[in-house]
Amino acid sequence: MNYVSTRGGMRPARFTEILLEGLAPDGGLTVPAHGYPRLSPADLSAMRDMNYAELAFAILSRYIDDIPHGDLKRLIDATYTGRIFGSEDIAPLAELEPGLAILGLSNGPTLAFKDMAMQLLGNLFEHVLAREGRELNILGATSGDTGSAAEYAMRGKKGVRVFMLSPHGRMSPFQTAQMFSLQDPNIFNLAIDGVFDDCQDIVKAVSNDADFKARYRIGAVNSINWARVLAQVVYYFKGYFAATRGNDETVSFAVPSGNFGNIYAGHVARMMGLPIRRLVLATNENNVLDEFFRTGVYRVRSGDETRQTSSPSMDISKASNFERFIFDLTGRDGATVRELWSAIDQHGRFDLNGTALMPGVAQYGFVSGYSTHVDRIATIRAIHAKYGRIVDTHTADGLTVAMRYREPGIPMVVLETALPAKFEDTIIEALGIKPPRPPGFEGIENLPRRFEVMPASVERVKAFVAGHVR
Ligand SMILES: *Cc1c(COP(=O)(O)O)cnc(C)c1O
Repeated sequence: MNYVSTRGGMRPARFTEILLEGLAPDGGLTVPAHGYPRLSPADLSAMRDMNYAELAFAILSRYIDDIPHGDLKRLIDATYTGRIFGSEDIAPLAELEPGLAILGLSNGPTLAFKDMAMQLLGNLFEHVLAREGRELNILGATSGDTGSAAEYAMRGKKGVRVFMLSPHGRMSPFQTAQMFSLQDPNIFNLAIDGVFDDCQDIVKAVSNDADFKARYRIGAVNSINWARVLAQVVYYFKGYFAATRGNDETVSFAVPSGNFGNIYAGHVARMMGLPIRRLVLATNENNVLDEFFRTGVYRVRSGDETRQTSSPSMDISKASNFERFIFDLTGRDGATVRELWSAIDQHGRFDLNGTALMPGVAQYGFVSGYSTHVDRIATIRAIHAKYGRIVDTHTADGLTVAMRYREPGIPMVVLETALPAKFEDTIIEALGIKPPRPPGFEGIENLPRRFEVMPASVERVKAFVAGHVR
């Protein structure tokens, strides 16, 4: 299978050629050159009884043909284990009541769903780098979940170093402890005197220095990485099979959304033929995406307009993976995508109303809604009172919106994107009690820490990277 850019300006490339890259050379995102493989009813029937690793192989092997399938299988088997994900089920489905269930995607090492893809990415990177005799130095900025998931995926991996910038003193105590307690020599935590945007600006500045980037083999692991998307497609299948008895049934999924990576994977699953009825997109107060699906207007926000909320991993100003959906909406027309994104560059928005694209939006099963802090607190309380389960703030956004779209006879599966232990303060605000911590996470705040504080200076970060790359 070959991959091309959503903006039409890239020569077709194989999976391992795009694996370690960020944006396509023309600024677009990589997608399969000839659309998504379609599964037959017989394929679906065969998949129903597979375990998680088998399911992952059945799906990923349809998109990856330049890693020998024996190797791919071994990498997948080493990733999706009970030891790493807390149970043999990997993504357990918990029914709250008939027709309403939670799909647990947050039982990996960092207690958020990003582990589901990032753990596989760590193994894929190590394999491909070793094969090509290459090294990669991952430079990233984080305000929490992404950075920790990347570090826990890459720790101890040969050929990879991680330099992760975070705003000094501004991550939650749990997230700080999780990241800074890592003692692996290939992981570097740089605590920057500044805010998240300063960290991100530094990463951009370093990446824009082509000489430095090439010389020190700088790469990224952001949410537009195609392998991350692929790994996320798998749990939609897992959730569907767990929630149904036969392949004539349909299911709706509710997805707490930020960068549109998670729910785009649901779109891919649906395009492959998984009987998904609705993809319920849930945002918090930063409702860029909800606005689009309600009105047809996609308007990115400025930094000042982006609110800090109690579901912080969804606090986004634009949704990077959204471009892949728009590519499908245009009938896979790179020229139109390029025009739309140049409108964003010039005017900060595009409006599909009155265009031939607008009627298509409804065909893909998306519906949407947003919730506020008050809604989240109310949902956390209601779910705890009714079902005795404590959900985190992001999952609460998903549940809040899911309730508006339930339909008789169609199970609603809400994706649990983090465990409540990560967001203690809001749980205490809602319930007056501390959420439980999974075994192994007690007292992580007291572990020894390894991090470097430095000013928000591009030169200082470059000097640090240069000094630690041999
Ligand atoms: C990253 C994240 C999200 C948003 O996922 P996207 O793929 O960016 O839409 C939601 N919840 C949690 C807990 C996350 O870490």
